[in-house]
Amino acid sequence: MNFQNTLAFAKELDSNDSLRSFREKFFIPQHEGKDCVYFTGNSLGLQPKTTSQYVQQELDDWAKLGVEGHFEAKNPWMPYHEIFPKQLSKIVGCKENEVVVMNQLTVNLHLLMVSFYRPTKQRYKIICEAKAFPSDQYAFETQAIYHGYKAEDAVIEVAPREGEHTLRTEDILSVIKEHGDDVAVVLFGGVNYYTGQLFDLKMITEAAHSVGAYAGFDLAHAAGNVELQLHDWNVDFACWCTYKYLNSGPGGVAGAYIHEKHVTNKELPRFAGWWGYKKETRFKMGKGFDPIPSAEGWQLSNAPILLMAAHKASLDIFEEAGMERLHEKRKQLAAYLHFVLNDINRRQVEKVLEIITPANVVERGCQVSIMMLKDGKRVFDELTKQGVIADWREPNVIRIAPVPLYNSFEDIFRFGEIINSILK
Ligand SMILES: *Cc1c(COP(=O)(O)O)cnc(C)c1O
Repeated sequence: MNFQNTLAFAKELDSNDSLRSFREKFFIPQHEGKDCVYFTGNSLGLQPKTTSQYVQQELDDWAKLGVEGHFEAKNPWMPYHEIFPKQLSKIVGCKENEVVVMNQLTVNLHLLMVSFYRPTKQRYKIICEAKAFPSDQYAFETQAIYHGYKAEDAVIEVAPREGEHTLRTEDILSVIKEHGDDVAVVLFGGVNYYTGQLFDLKMITEAAHSVGAYAGFDLAHAAGNVELQLHDWNVDFACWCTYKYLNSGPGGVAGAYIHEKHVTNKELPRFAGWWGYKKETRFKMGKGFDPIPSAEGWQLSNAPILLMAAHKASLDIFEEAGMERLHEKRKQLAAYLHFVLNDINRRQVEKVLEIITPANVVERGCQVSIMMLKDGKRVFDELTKQGVIADWREPNVIRIAPVPLYNSFEDIFRFGEIINSILK
């Protein structure tokens, strides 16, 4: 398509967008009486207007029924988490017995590492991306130390080449191969939080398996954003939060995936709790842990119903929109954003910004990370003043993520226009 950097053209794209009415389903933060340009759905997704009803339902049932709500609530709390696998399996590409909603993201990462990072003298390394999200770095480091290894020996980071911002798949694969029999687990993000680079999960998983290691992913920036086929790609385990692209509220309940081939394996070590215990006999409260033979077997505690209600409100919107339409619009939004950003450079005497997110559509999701070559902080502050909510990372990167559920092509035009006016 031949894009144009004009308001009329952006509006035309919006009028042809079959998902345009979904914007109405969300509360958009306001700035001087107008909708903000909200480009931080990668950090905290917006609140669906239905969320309060979903949460209120559970508050009402609690008020009315007390403990009986576990069985008598409209959505009984005892099996509440069982409503998620059907919808989530479509979002992350897995079977229903492979996914569970529980805890928070970093907690799930640790729990899965308990099962899948079992270092031995020979095989003890964790291969990950350099500049992984700090929480993941701390998890890797302390897991290695917990097992008696030095983090600097055990945690192997794959870094971009000199002068490059993102990783080459060939480099990831060759580091895995180089460390071969030493590798216990390969643990990458799905989409890197800083550069927005989407990794080739399938290839990385194959490479991990070819050296006899497990492959796991932190999908915080991938779930609800990019196409995922965790089961078919043979990914061993994964986890994600739900407050970013999945719009389930600050600190929302998180998700975990474990491949079918592992879920019935009672021998896999794990840190257990009563909610992972076989349902038929859980309340006999007997000795000896007997796990549910599905991803549910990793649950520890009874479900945080209010957070889960908020998650449900959002997933019902995803269900209505359908992942295919969302992916299609996401790609179009990103393509238009790339066009508008390149147009900003074209209008200046010299290049003022560099997009560090890969241009290739299979190597990115919603997010675009922009390295400002000139006046970065001034541009960012002015954007904020004019009602654009974006994210600034020192020394000079602006991260933005137009998301298909509630962002418009006009948002992108406005973003570009403000930058142009600042640089004039
Ligand atoms: C957002 C994010 C986190 C945050 O972890 P919480 O446990 O939810 O606080 C961790 N890892 C990655 C990769 C993230 O993007």
